[in-house]
Amino acid sequence: MDLIFEKSRPGRTAGSIPVCDVPEVILEQVIEQRLLREDVDLPEVAEVDLIRHYTMLSRRNFGVDVGFYPLGSCTMKYNPKVNEDVARLPGFTELHPLAPAEFAQGSLRLMVELQIFLSEIFGMDDFTLQPAAGAHGELTGVMMMKKYFETRGDHRRQILIPDAAHGTNPASGALCGFQTVTVRSNAEGGVDIDHLRNLMTGDVAGLMLTNPNTLGLFERNIEAIAEIVHGRGGLLYCDGANANAFMGKTRPGDLGFDVIQLNLHKTFSTPHGSGGPGSGPVGVMKNLLDYLPVPRIVKDGDRYAWREDYPDSIGRVRAFHGNFNVMVKAYTYIRTLGPEGLKKCSEVAVLNANYLKEKLKPYYDIAYDRTCMHECVFTGRRQVQESGVHTSDIAKRLLDYGYHPPTIYFPMIVPEAMMIEPNETESLETLDAFCDVMMAIARESRENPDMVKSAPLTTPVKRLDEVRAAREPDVCWKG
Ligand SMILES: *Cc1c(COP(=O)(O)O)cnc(C)c1O
Repeated sequence: MDLIFEKSRPGRTAGSIPVCDVPEVILEQVIEQRLLREDVDLPEVAEVDLIRHYTMLSRRNFGVDVGFYPLGSCTMKYNPKVNEDVARLPGFTELHPLAPAEFAQGSLRLMVELQIFLSEIFGMDDFTLQPAAGAHGELTGVMMMKKYFETRGDHRRQILIPDAAHGTNPASGALCGFQTVTVRSNAEGGVDIDHLRNLMTGDVAGLMLTNPNTLGLFERNIEAIAEIVHGRGGLLYCDGANANAFMGKTRPGDLGFDVIQLNLHKTFSTPHGSGGPGSGPVGVMKNLLDYLPVPRIVKDGDRYAWREDYPDSIGRVRAFHGNFNVMVKAYTYIRTLGPEGLKKCSEVAVLNANYLKEKLKPYYDIAYDRTCMHECVFTGRRQVQESGVHTSDIAKRLLDYGYHPPTIYFPMIVPEAMMIEPNETESLETLDAFCDVMMAIARESRENPDMVKSAPLTTPVKRLDEVRAAREPDVCWKG
């Protein structure tokens, strides 16, 4: 496909302006001279070519609205369009971020109610909606943990993170100045309790537990873990980015967690990918309330206001008030589904993942074979041994069949990992069709491994240098 620059023809234009019938103002008086450049190389194309170009480009893009997107840990589920309609209401979109509270009562009410809903769903005492992503929420949560110890004059230096945690957890701990210490997983894919007991000293601020973990497994020993961590004065952090596995079924606050971050853009339905927009609210129990970011919204009678005077607060973590449109979508999602609907989401997400796991088990080895939550992790070990076909080849081959590949080579504790998250929005027919393709690829790997290793065969570009594409993106056109 040609670039828009290659389609350019001098003098061609996508619009025409009527002849001026009022006195002309010399442009230079209005626009600074340095902005009036003639040498900017902009493409010149007709309207029809412009429309065709961008429509064709958009069709080359893969998204949830186009097909099945089982990217493990990312919850690329279908997002109901009613959320978009509500988020686009002019009362929300036209509100200036600096509008004083008196002029933003409806939006403040929505934020307060969302905090209350999230507190209820997850069993926490309060939430902040400021963080703009999951990892940002983690950072905020760990900053609060650090402040909690600082105000006690207790300078703990370490934070514990299981090897089945999400990769952003150690990064968040390290950014807050903690030394991160890895806790091993046991044979069941849960936290090795003895190892935790040995590591949990008075120098440890707490444990960051991804639950369900990156193996798609629910931690079976949370109460014992909470007892060990709290027993040494530590705090228990929950990475709740994948809460569509348990919302409505169990509440982290009841299980002994002190702090949790959520990913509204995953669990509570916002299209995401390529960096945003996201929202990573953080919920805390009473012991951490004083450290929540400011400003906080307070309700005074039936009016809402911003309040800054919380002396122990970690301060502001985001400009303005976070990604408000994501909050509107999450609010709409919760209100349209209701408690029973949210619970059903978790049930179907878990059912779908287990269906897929059982159906594909004869063809691909499963990393930890027990009931999984919202995702299941396979290993391509058998394919490597049998025919030298790697997980990356299987992922590339899926592109030929029109599917977005699952997450691969993550979690890192599983060799040749394939992490498949089907989500609650997919039908039995979609799951079956995907399984048929995965079975076909397993057969192709045995019978025609060279073909699988040279996949994809049907896409506009083949095997890209992904690392270089990310590190040195070449986005300039040189004519
Ligand atoms: C997605 C994810 C994150 C990171 O969330 P971002 O919004 O991408 O920063 C953290 N933890 C887990 C378990 C996740 O799945």
